[in-house]
Amino acid sequence: MPEILAKKFIRDVPDFPKKGILFKDIAPVLQHAEALQQAVDIISLDAKAKGAEVVIGIESRGFVFGVPVALQLGLPFSMARKLGKLPYERITEEYALEYGTNTVEMHIDAVSEGQRAYVVDDLLATGGTAAAAARLVERLKGSVCGFGFLVELTFLNGRENLLGYPVHVLIEY
Ligand code: AMP
Repeated sequence: MPEILAKKFIRDVPDFPKKGILFKDIAPVLQHAEALQQAVDIISLDAKAKGAEVVIGIESRGFVFGVPVALQLGLPFSMARKLGKLPYERITEEYALEYGTNTVEMHIDAVSEGQRAYVVDDLLATGGTAAAAARLVERLKGSVCGFGFLVELTFLNGRENLLGYPVHVLIEY
């Protein structure tokens, strides 16, 4: 395994967006072309190995990493977006947060029947968002061939929400 350059460029921001949360800010990774390229290359290799036919990015930092992966592999890219952002006919999945719920949506033509979808986001925390994205893919009769994340917060046990799916992570905390 090569040294992951992006690890040097992940910035800890305490108490964002609220007190007690240590936010892992990936913005500096994007400002370092070599670190970004390496991260995209590694995620692309995994997506290819999993036989991806479409890349799904979770809003919004999943778009930043998912689009270059799709381009690099010559694959289509589809968005999983927060509630109320998608204009066309869509399906919706809710998931639980510590307090309340969140919602992700996909256009009904984001994944086609039988298509193998590879889901990308910047960070795996509790896994609620990623699991909801997987349910959307499956409701569209696609299958999730894998997940790719730049960062995993292992102490939140997000993988327990993604049991049965291959999960690839570059940097663990
Ligand atoms: P979860 O559904 O709990 O796995 O949360 C994942 C989503 O929330 C991802 O889209 C992350 O970008 C964001 N997120 C959650 N916790 C953090 C954190 N500590 N630092 C940065 N992003 C986070």
